[in-house]
Amino acid sequence: MPDHIPRAGVRFQCQGSGNCCVSHGEYGYVYVTLADRRRLAATLGIKTQQFTRRYCIKTEGLFHLDMKNGDCVFLDGKRCAVYDGRPTQCRTWPFWPENMPAKRWAAIAEFCPGIGQGNLIPLDTVREILSEQRRSNAEL
Ligand code: SF4
Repeated sequence: MPDHIPRAGVRFQCQGSGNCCVSHGEYGYVYVTLADRRRLAATLGIKTQQFTRRYCIKTEGLFHLDMKNGDCVFLDGKRCAVYDGRPTQCRTWPFWPENMPAKRWAAIAEFCPGIGQGNLIPLDTVREILSEQRRSNAEL
């Protein structure tokens, strides 16, 4: 675990900015596994195949949500229109393995107002979330 995540944990609480739902260049895509697509389809009450056809794009062999002018197709104002069924990548934000290097963490703190807010997320919980995200990445 990198040094900038202290043993006591790290403060994070979503502030509902919607900033993680818009493209930030290299953070451009919301990737979706088959499990994500099934859950999202169920949330919308449609078949998985329909969901994939309507809302997903495949780039370099990996499915991701369609982006309209850089915004996630499900971003409604600052609100997620599929919050209960949102993809794993959205649930695990900002605790992604690639966000752990200190330089990257500092970069995402620039646009994510939830970092440094709310209760401490214990280190063990951060580790669990990182593992969940790794598992999801492996399923893409
Ligand atoms: S699915 Fe919802 S939480 Fe995830 S990027 Fe889209 S609007 Fe944001």
